[in-house]
Amino acid sequence: MSVASKRILKRRKGSRSLSDYKDDVYLCARCGYCRDMIRARDKTAQVCPIRENTGGFESYTARGRNIIARGILEGKVVPSSLSTEFIDSLYACTLCGSCQEHCLALDERSWSRFPDNKFSDHKIDILGINEAMRSAIVEKGVPPGTIRQVLRNLSLHGNAEGLPRSQRDAYAEQFGFPVKRAKDERCKTLLYPGSVASYSERSQRTIRAIAVILRGAETDFCILGSEEEDSGADALRLGETGLFEELAQRNIQLLKKYGIKQIICLSPHDFDTFQNDYPVFLGEQWTELKIKVQHYAETLLNLLRNNKIHPERRFSKMVTYQDPCYLGRINGLYNAPREILRRVTDLAEMKLTRHNSFCCGGGGGGLWHDPLDKPRLETERAKQACATGAEIVAVACPTCAKMLETGLSSIPQCKMQVMDIAEILLETMSFINEPASL
Ligand code: SF4
Ligand code: SF4
Repeated sequence: MSVASKRILKRRKGSRSLSDYKDDVYLCARCGYCRDMIRARDKTAQVCPIRENTGGFESYTARGRNIIARGILEGKVVPSSLSTEFIDSLYACTLCGSCQEHCLALDERSWSRFPDNKFSDHKIDILGINEAMRSAIVEKGVPPGTIRQVLRNLSLHGNAEGLPRSQRDAYAEQFGFPVKRAKDERCKTLLYPGSVASYSERSQRTIRAIAVILRGAETDFCILGSEEEDSGADALRLGETGLFEELAQRNIQLLKKYGIKQIICLSPHDFDTFQNDYPVFLGEQWTELKIKVQHYAETLLNLLRNNKIHPERRFSKMVTYQDPCYLGRINGLYNAPREILRRVTDLAEMKLTRHNSFCCGGGGGGLWHDPLDKPRLETERAKQACATGAEIVAVACPTCAKMLETGLSSIPQCKMQVMDIAEILLETMSFINEPASL
């Protein structure tokens, strides 16, 4: 068994009980590297974005949470007595994984790789501990109000913001060509925009760009339209395992019914959950479907490599790239989006990049929860992007797109714009404005 799969089985064994993370909690040496270690290997400037942009209290860090977790495991702290401030700090964590990436408790089988360890080589499952603590808080009915509302919306409306299901596929009207619906025509490849992109005006342009490119490459694909269900990624990350399982069951029934064999995800969060959570929580019920899960960056890169699509000109603006935590650090997909960009434009990297990348602030509930200490990671990351001098910050995640647009709007002197990698790629192709001729 690989180290990576061991970690996934450990972190995602289908239980959210803190007692399942006891070994991890006790492995924590309280060294504080997850707080503010500056690594010689790569000049890491910051480890925890939340710690750096709040008062820096211990409870914002992995070390602090591990100490509280230990108190809970030893019966010295009961979840229902946790202070509102601690619960707020727990949900302020964006689950970006940077602390886990930098923790020095490494699986011994990966020592030979040091200092080039991967996220999955780290023995303390810091994200799993956080999620288990969130589960305990949800069970006691005491998460922050915003999180309660998000969970209610996911349950009632199938999206975090409680928007109407009938509007879920309104984006398809902008395609300029008819798109297959799984309920009307058979198809094996599903384009899965997910809840965030489907309702975001900004990301609807991304969905269109991907759809136009897929069509240009003569890929047979479909959408679920208003039948599409939330993947359950947010429910799981916010600590509502029961709701996750309910959403996952709805997805399995739909995918089975329509004979889907490949899912192309827009959101790295959905990609991560289909790829890593479904097999563990649903077991054979999922694996026997043999569904291939891809993030669209991989899909587009494959089309480029296989000469199915042909950029015809360079994209004229300088671009920098935001690594989405759940694509890069957590799933190791750093190169695919960069290769797409490098084929069509010049790429100026930010100082904090790849495994050291700085979260946009939207993960782990950050898209909705506004912590008491107002960390404003989106503004901090937007500043870092502006410092490259690029005109465009390229994204590969609808959550990053939303957060960075908000961040840039608070820096009027920076004229940088957010574009998705698919939009940039599409701009270099001749069929961009000719959907009717496709
Ligand atoms: S989680 Fe890792 S880096 Fe943080 S204090 Fe514990 S052992 Fe050190
Ligand atoms: S996951 Fe990210 S935000 Fe959360 S404690 Fe770790 S470094 Fe900080």
